[in-house]
Amino acid sequence: MADTGKDTGKDAGVDTGEERALWPALKRGLRRRCPNCGTGGIFRGYLKVRDHCPVCEEALYHQRADDGPAYLTILIVGHVMAPLILGVYTALRPDPLIMASVFSVGTAALSLYLLPRLKGGMIAFQWAKRMHGFGPDPVEAELEMPDTGDEAAAE
Ligand SMILES: [Zn+2]
Repeated sequence: MADTGKDTGKDAGVDTGEERALWPALKRGLRRRCPNCGTGGIFRGYLKVRDHCPVCEEALYHQRADDGPAYLTILIVGHVMAPLILGVYTALRPDPLIMASVFSVGTAALSLYLLPRLKGGMIAFQWAKRMHGFGPDPVEAELEMPDTGDEAAAE
């Protein structure tokens, strides 16, 4: 793994459009931290993404995680729990009621644990790869848009 982009938070501020390190951003996102500074929390509440990082003001509202985190959560929890259920059942033959209770609670708990972390990771991935609006600052480009010619038409 490259040694670039440590958790210094120094890269906050002007976006020059240069490449962003993926792995540091992913690690920050999986900890539910801002992919840019690693300090500010990206969620207000359980899954609601903040518009901006409270520490470095990095815009986070460009994220389009949508159903991705739920898909990844089901994928991981399914692949962890299904072999576990089979293993426990064949090895221990527990009472069905105990088995159902333990695995229902375990599955729900694991899903609730993973969901916000995977969402953070997905947002960090989008941020690092400059997907959607996470690219270089588009505001300046919009301000310099050519005139539409409305003034000339009015005369
Ligand atoms: Zn930040």
